[in-house]
Amino acid sequence: MSKLNLQTLFRSEVLALSAYHVADAQGFIKLDAMENPYTWSNNLKLTWLARLKNCPLNRYPDPEARELTAMLKTLNQIPDNIELLLGNGSDEIIQLLLMALPENSHILSTTPSFVMYKQISDSLGLNYHGVSLRADFELDLPAMLAAIEHHNPAIIFLAYPNNPTGNLFDVEAINKIIDAANGLVIIDEAYEPFANNASFINRVANNVLVMRTVSKLGLAGLRLGYIAGEREIIEQLHKIRLPYNINVLTQTTVQFALEHKDVFDEQTAAICAGRTLMLNELNALDGITAFESAANFILFKTPENQATKIFEAIKTQGVLIKNVHPQGGLLTDCLRVTVGTPDENQAFLRALKSAL
Ligand SMILES: *Cc1c(COP(=O)(O)O)cnc(C)c1O
Repeated sequence: MSKLNLQTLFRSEVLALSAYHVADAQGFIKLDAMENPYTWSNNLKLTWLARLKNCPLNRYPDPEARELTAMLKTLNQIPDNIELLLGNGSDEIIQLLLMALPENSHILSTTPSFVMYKQISDSLGLNYHGVSLRADFELDLPAMLAAIEHHNPAIIFLAYPNNPTGNLFDVEAINKIIDAANGLVIIDEAYEPFANNASFINRVANNVLVMRTVSKLGLAGLRLGYIAGEREIIEQLHKIRLPYNINVLTQTTVQFALEHKDVFDEQTAAICAGRTLMLNELNALDGITAFESAANFILFKTPENQATKIFEAIKTQGVLIKNVHPQGGLLTDCLRVTVGTPDENQAFLRALKSAL
């Protein structure tokens, strides 16, 4: 390393970043990352493996993933005049969107929100602004409109439902933000399967794009996200994506999985039922306030200055959740738990009770 001067070799915004930290979950009941806890029946796995057998691993995959794209368009009822772009997870799509912007562009979202909006903006040297939500986690519309006026953001990200708060923002407030925006408004519907049909998918036109992923549905390991938007916008993004960004195993497997959408619908229903139970059980605990969620996780508030201690005590009992208290602001004293199987949820609740 003696020859290298990293300080001049890399961009200053890269040097200033801290890596996105993913906790080591080995051996834990894993309720930290909004994964679907259910797997497939053995029969389904065998049918899937038979399909994979014919995957031409020696060939590059279809660079446009045409079959999969057509299937996603049908399943998501995307009109013909709207195009889809597929990404290696919706994280990659966020990166593509931000990479396409001029230097010095401004990005707007809420605080708290999905951390990758800021992480990727920072890595590219863009100007990220997070407008604080109200205490009830609703959009602060006057503050959002003022920020739009002041920064003229090239992109506004709104997670709907929001992560990590779990709520759906007021539709009228979002409409006003769309009207005021001169740039793109990305409605990030990562949790759409759990949101009881709340969606902006019918609003995709002009500057409004809707982004979804198969990750939270139960295919997080495959890495597939997609975004719907006007052809002229999607065309620009295609120019900067890597040609084979969706590998052949992902293309084949997501197609196979979506042919068996009923399996996922059942799992989603079980997760939503678990969410209701968990919310009630959390709110029955002394000192805990759990917030309504339209996603597959629940944010809850612990007694003052106890969040990290409680998080650690739960972890000691073999259950990994997410400590969002260090993010501060509205998340002070808060922890986030993913809804798992009934057994996992009970294990978590037992661990929490004994930690209180
Ligand atoms: C999990 C999550 C994503 C990322 O999804 P991937 O497709 O797995 O990259 C995007 N947006 C929000 C709000 C999320 O919570």
